[in-house]
Amino acid sequence: MKLKIALLLSLVLLFSCLAACLRHGGSGNPGSQKYEAEFIGLFDTLTRVMGYAETEEEFRATVQALKDDLEVYHRLYDIYKDYPGLVNIRSLNRQAGQGPVEVDPKIIDLLLFAREAYDLTDGRVNVALGALTAIWHRYRENGISHPETARLPDRKLLEEAAGHTAIEDLIIDPASHTVELKDPQMRLDVGAIAKGYAVEQAARAAEARGVKHLLISVGGNVRAIGARNDEGESWRVGIENPDHTAEDYLAIVRAADQSVVTSGVYERFYLVDGRSYHHIIDPDSLFPENRYLSVSIITPDSGLADVLSTALFNLDLEEGKRLIGGLEQTEALWCLPDGSLVESEGFASLKAD
Ligand code: ADP
Ligand code: MG
Repeated sequence: MKLKIALLLSLVLLFSCLAACLRHGGSGNPGSQKYEAEFIGLFDTLTRVMGYAETEEEFRATVQALKDDLEVYHRLYDIYKDYPGLVNIRSLNRQAGQGPVEVDPKIIDLLLFAREAYDLTDGRVNVALGALTAIWHRYRENGISHPETARLPDRKLLEEAAGHTAIEDLIIDPASHTVELKDPQMRLDVGAIAKGYAVEQAARAAEARGVKHLLISVGGNVRAIGARNDEGESWRVGIENPDHTAEDYLAIVRAADQSVVTSGVYERFYLVDGRSYHHIIDPDSLFPENRYLSVSIITPDSGLADVLSTALFNLDLEEGKRLIGGLEQTEALWCLPDGSLVESEGFASLKAD
C-alpha cells in the first residue's frame, strides 16, 4: 500500500516536472495539427510524445508502434520484475554463477553497449555495480517509506559488495546469444543506460517506419526525431531546474535529431540526518557524491546521452569537461550545488533565443 502511494506520488511529481520539460514552439507542416500522447508504466515513468500529423489516426498509429517497441525493451531490461516465459535482466541476475544463459539479441546489444560505456567512462558507469546499487536501493526505499528509521548502509557492507562488481565477470557471447555472470554474487543494474538505449532504438525503428518529426520524452529522457517540420525548425526542449520552486528552466535548447538527457539529485533520493543521498553511486567512494545538482547532455544518440549524464556525476568538472570535449557533437550543462551553471564549450550555440 505504502509502495503504491509512493509510486503515485512520484508519478504526480514526475508528471508535473515532465509537463514542463517539453516545449514546442511554432507549428508543424501546413495542413498538419499538433498532437500529444502520454502514458505511464514504461521504465517506471511517464512517457510523452509530441508531433504534428495530418490526422489523429496517423498520430495514434505512430505512437502505438513506438509504445509497443518501448514495452519490449522495458520488459527485457527490467531488473525488478519477472514476466512469465521471458528471460530478462532480472532472470539473468538470478542465474549469476550458473553458466551461460541464452538471451534475446536486444539484451546482448544492450550489454555490448554497456561495455563500451564502461570503457568510454573509465568505469564511472558500470552495469556490473548491481550488488552495490542494490544495497543503496534498499536503504533508500526504506528511508523513503520510513523516514524516521532512515540509515546509511554500513561501509563494510558496501565494500563487500564492491568486491563483486568486476565488468570482466560479465561474459557476452554474441555468436551463441548467451550471457554469463561469472561471479555468483555479481548483479547487473542497467538503470543508468537502459532507458536511453531503449529510446534510441525505438526512435530509430520509428524513423525506419517513415516518421520524420516526433519528440519523445521517457521520464525526461528526450529524443527528437527530425526537426519540428519540413522547414527544419527545431524542437525546443526545456532543461528542468533542480530547484523546483524556480519557474525558469536551466536552459532551453534547440533540438533536431538530438537527445537531451538529464540526471539529477532530485530524481530519487532519501534523507539521513537532514542530508540528502541520491541514486548515482560513485564506484570509487561507494557513495553518492555531491558534486552537482544536475548534469544534462545534448548529443544525437540517446543511449550515449544517458551514459554521459550519469558518468559526469562521478567526475570532477575538469575531468568531465575533458570527456565531453573529446566527443563530437556532444555538449553538457552542469548545475553546481550552489545553483550556478557551467556550460561545455559549444553549449551556447544550441540555446534557443
Ligand atoms: P535516471 O534513471 O533517474 O534517469 P541515471 O540515468 O543517472 O538516472 O541512472 C541512475 C541509475 O543507474 C541508478 O538508479 C542506479 O540504478 C544506476 N546506477 C547508479 N550509479 C551507477 C553507476 N556508477 N554506474 C552504473 N549504474 C549506476
Ligand atoms: Mg544515465
